[in-house]
Amino acid sequence: MLVIKDLHKSYTTGKSSLHVLKGINLTINEGEFVSIMGSSGSGKSTLLNIIGILDEKDSGIYNLDGLPIEDLNEIKAAEYRSKFLGFVFQSFNLIGYKNALENVALPLYYQNIPRKERNAIAMEYLEKVGLAQWATHLPNELSGGQKQRVAIARALVANPKVILADEPTGALDSKTTFDIMKLLQEINNEGKTIIVVTHENDVAAQTKRNVELKDGVILFDQMIEQKVL
Ligand code: ADP
Ligand code: MG
Repeated sequence: MLVIKDLHKSYTTGKSSLHVLKGINLTINEGEFVSIMGSSGSGKSTLLNIIGILDEKDSGIYNLDGLPIEDLNEIKAAEYRSKFLGFVFQSFNLIGYKNALENVALPLYYQNIPRKERNAIAMEYLEKVGLAQWATHLPNELSGGQKQRVAIARALVANPKVILADEPTGALDSKTTFDIMKLLQEINNEGKTIIVVTHENDVAAQTKRNVELKDGVILFDQMIEQKVL
């Protein structure tokens, strides 16, 4: 699904340059549920943003679903993002003046799917995350966990190949965190490939494979023993 070889990334501000990713090698197969851990500033978001075609690598190889991600113009990058990727963020990134259903339907709007059809599909996904009764509510009428469920439904609605989540539980209490990770587990059990960035051990423990970044390289990469809950 995703092949990364000897990937490097530096940020240059003024005269100083920061070498954040120093040769990342990572292969993620279809259906995997991977957590990327590491201390603050270790480059987790940088790596996820490159995987999400939101940022560009400096060198190395990145293939997504067999396609080389290389020198894409903004139009092509946006096309690949909407075709292959669903995003979930710590701060939910919902549109405040649109209700839950409209937020979920938004990716379908950009794919020119007619309103009736996109609302029907969006409703299916709201049901999937347990929020059908909240369809007409605005984000500020929802709890943090509910907002993240809406964001997850929105990430899924266009049936992407991979879900990318950057600290999806960072703004949630521990019970809600557990429930959101449980939802992601269910989605993964249906076959969706998911990559979660987190600095929380408990969150990583609810995935199936853990990759740890340190000093710009992968310190370890291991399968997680599944606890019976
Ligand atoms: P993490 O998500 O693991 O906390 P990041 O990938 O956000 O780490 O950042 C890695 C390092 O790169 C940090 O030192 C951060 O300050 C720096 N950095 C991130 N984005 C930029 C940017 N756009 N410009 C300059 N430096 C950046
Ligand atoms: Mg980060």
